[in-house]
Amino acid sequence: MTAATSIAATVSTNLWLGGRQVRAESGATFPVYDPSSEQIVAHVADATAEDGLKALGLAHRYQSAWAATPARSRAEILRCAFELVCRRADDFAEIITLEMGKTLAESHAEVAYGAEFLRWFSEEAVRLHGRYGTAPGGNGRIVVSKIPVGPVLAITPWNFPLAMGTRKIAPALAAGCTIIVKPAEETPMTMLMLGQVFADAGLPEGVLSILPTSRAAALTAPLINDSRLRKLTFTGSTEVGKVLVGESAHRLLRTSMELGGNAPFVVFDDADIDAAVDGAIAAKMRNGGQACTAANRLHVQRGVIGEFTDKLTTRVAAMIAGPGDSPTTSIGPLINADQREMVAELVDDATARGARIRTGGYRVDGPGYFYAPTVLDQIPRHARLLREEIFGPVAAVVGFDTEEDGIEAANDTEYGLAAYFYTQDLDRALRVADSLHSGMVGVNRGVISDAAAPFGGINQSGFGREGGIEGIGEYLDTKYIAL
Ligand code: ADP
Repeated sequence: MTAATSIAATVSTNLWLGGRQVRAESGATFPVYDPSSEQIVAHVADATAEDGLKALGLAHRYQSAWAATPARSRAEILRCAFELVCRRADDFAEIITLEMGKTLAESHAEVAYGAEFLRWFSEEAVRLHGRYGTAPGGNGRIVVSKIPVGPVLAITPWNFPLAMGTRKIAPALAAGCTIIVKPAEETPMTMLMLGQVFADAGLPEGVLSILPTSRAAALTAPLINDSRLRKLTFTGSTEVGKVLVGESAHRLLRTSMELGGNAPFVVFDDADIDAAVDGAIAAKMRNGGQACTAANRLHVQRGVIGEFTDKLTTRVAAMIAGPGDSPTTSIGPLINADQREMVAELVDDATARGARIRTGGYRVDGPGYFYAPTVLDQIPRHARLLREEIFGPVAAVVGFDTEEDGIEAANDTEYGLAAYFYTQDLDRALRVADSLHSGMVGVNRGVISDAAAPFGGINQSGFGREGGIEGIGEYLDTKYIAL
């Protein structure tokens, strides 16, 4: 048993049903793979629709008790969970690297980021303010209070197995909602490890269920159709998000959708080029490019495109793709064979249309779903990778002439999650930040996520915000009391 697989043996592979470990109703399990070795690392309980309905029964039964639990107590449980995740950071980092593939350094960064939502929302739990006012007509008082919307169903993706969970679970619990989490089938172990943290932190019975499954829709559709469920929060592809909004529509179920992106990364002539290259590496290569905020298109003004692309190419060519737990690795594998084929297909499409490969552009021999860190330039306008989310370590550099051209190119997408740009001119920074159509803008920054800031998109990137003071609002209803 290697060090990596031994961490898997420490995680319970049962379901968490209202805070207790149980086997799946069917007794079935499904395999979890290490994308670096393509080996099975565990067999995890495979939740069925019956398990889902049991979890919803508990979430419904305990909703009012949890809502009535003093905010201070809810906050303290979250704070305790934060401290336990920090104390077990090495274990979390190892399990994330094992089932998702990113480097241990990146996994540690995710653990710190993911834990931060627990701390942030433990602090927000005690600040759920309403308001009080006098009706303008002088005929009454207006009292507005906030009440938990719960029970909640959270569906999370594989790319940040811990953080995508904590940024839903923490605000839901802080708001007083019970919650059922369905983690991605590729990465259920991290969430199961988090289940133990909440049990150890003293979360009461019935409040949290974690249900891995190999058949997502079979589990979630009956829950979405059940009148006891009051809220759906989803992070994943735009395609699946639309299906879920459709399923939710006939019940008018409240939904939050954090969907795909196609982030532009714009470098103006007056930028600090070395800083822009650092930012591009972070925005593009972090998580192997497998982030919805990943820079998908690098738009660089003609005066600096040569210098920028040369420096970027040197940096990317020096990156080593390999297993996440190896100290020499700078970039881990893609999550699975399909994802790697999609990346290869987009690169092949671009080169077939005339794009130039500056470095990379090939699959690295396995085992493991590795793809060489890649820089492409001279990208033709109709290349698919300018329109579609690459979700891989491929930097596509495109030139532009004027500021207006740069903004127009950046906004030429139906998505609107993140956008980045580099300039040293303050007036331009304000002008461009105002002009970019996206929920989040990084100015001279390649990484923008922060538990204290509202994360989310517009247009085809979805709606709702996670983190910040806005994040908890997704789990609250507003009640007006006329006095
Ligand atoms: P990705 O491309 O990142 O895998 P998906 O949107 O396919 O994104 O998956 C994100 C999450 O949504 C995962 O937990 C997955 O199991 C779940 N999922 C996928 N399809 C459905 C569906 N039809 N109903 C409910 N959940 C789904």
